[in-house]
Order: sequence, then structure tokens, then C-alpha cells
Amino acid sequence: MSVFFCYLAVYFIIFIFGACIGSFLNVCILRLPSDESLIKGASHCMTCGEKIKKRDLIPILSWCILKGKCRNCKADISPRYTVIEVLNAILYVLIFAIFGFMKQPFLPAIICLLFSCLIVVFFMDLDTNTINTGILIVIALLGVARYFLVGDLTWQSQLIGAFCISIPFLIIVIVSRERAMGMGDALLMFSAGLVLGVKAIIIATFIGLVLGSVAGLIQKRHTGNNKFAFGPWLSIGIAVGAIWGTQLADLYLKLSGLS
Ligand SMILES: [Zn+2]
Repeated sequence: MSVFFCYLAVYFIIFIFGACIGSFLNVCILRLPSDESLIKGASHCMTCGEKIKKRDLIPILSWCILKGKCRNCKADISPRYTVIEVLNAILYVLIFAIFGFMKQPFLPAIICLLFSCLIVVFFMDLDTNTINTGILIVIALLGVARYFLVGDLTWQSQLIGAFCISIPFLIIVIVSRERAMGMGDALLMFSAGLVLGVKAIIIATFIGLVLGSVAGLIQKRHTGNNKFAFGPWLSIGIAVGAIWGTQLADLYLKLSGLS
């Protein structure tokens, strides 16, 4: 029983930590596109501009206590901030539950940070149709960290993973003059490939392209708008690939008799 409560306490701490990081991700999504400082400058209400007090900055809780309204002007605060905090917290718990933390704590930690970066990519690309270079550099550094701290992938797999999708994407970007796909998408696949390795990034791309194509068709039918962000769908593909990519690739090879 005491072991159970020990686990419960650890996962509770992981949840709280995930929610706090989620709160920081909101700042990144809001400020990175306009090159604002991530640490300087207090958060303020989007409607009245009033500086938000420290007691109203507690992730998840503050929004619930204030019933989603600004303390000063009572304007609605977007539920998206809280959704991102809860999402990041739940993902951290799931990742540690899937990978475990006893044998190898660095792998789930790296995957958690990767997921946080993907959340930023997802929402920033939806909002602004661009993917911030700083985030892509962080993802690439996670790939380097995985090689030195975890070492479960060969450097060949990680290096080929970085180039095998990003180069075809780059060609599509150049040929279509950024109409079919943006430079950010190609760079995203480079840095994600470095983290995931060759097998998982191929699975990630497949999932991302299928989701993106379906979403693109739906968007075109409903809005007639051709400007489409691929990044969010690639991010979901990368997230799935990061957890199950290698197993899915091995299963495919086995079923198709290729291995
Ligand atoms: Zn306000």
C-alpha cells in the first residue's frame, strides 16, 4: 500500500510540474512570434491590460477560481491557457507511466520536453502559420541529449532520421515555392528526426501526412482557404512516433515479411 502511495505522490508531482511548464508554454506561444522576452514583463489581461497578480497565476487553479474571467474587468479569459496546462500535465504523467522512471529517467524526461515543444509548434503554427526557429533548435538539442544521456539509438539512425524526411520536404518547399509546405515544416522534420531516429520519424511522417491531408481537404471544403498549416499535424505524428514509432515500424516490417 505504501508503495502505491509513493507512486501516487511521484505522479502527482509530475502532474504539477507538467502544469507549471504548460503555463510557461502559454507564454512562449503568445510572445515568441513577436520576439518578446519570455522572462521579462508580467502577464496582463488581453482585454483591459491590467497586470495579472501573482495569486492569479497558479496553473489550472486560478482559472477555475476566477471562473475563467479577469479579476479586474470580468472579461472572459480564453480556456485555451488552462487546456494547454492540463494537456501538458497529463502528457507528462502518461509519458512517465509508459516509459517508467526507475531504469532510465532521461528518456521520459527528454520525450516530455519534446512534447512541450510540439505543443508550442502546434498552437503557434495554427495562430501565425510560422514555426519559431528557437523551438526547432531546442528540439534538435534534445536529439543530442538523447544520444549522450540515453544512447538507445545509434548515431547513424539519428543522423539518417534527421535527413531522410527533411530533404524530400525541402525539395517540395523549393519546387512549390512554399505553397505546398513551408520551410518550417522541413526544419521541424530535421530536428524531430534527430530525436526520433530513422524508423520512428518515417512512421511520424506517415501519420502527420495522413492527418494533414484529411484536415486540409476538410478546411478547403468548408472555408475555400488554401493557406494551410501542416505543422500541427506533423506535430501529432511526431508525438505518436516518439512513443510507438519504432514498435510500429518493426511491426510493419514483420507483417510485410521484410524482416
Ligand atoms: Zn481584464
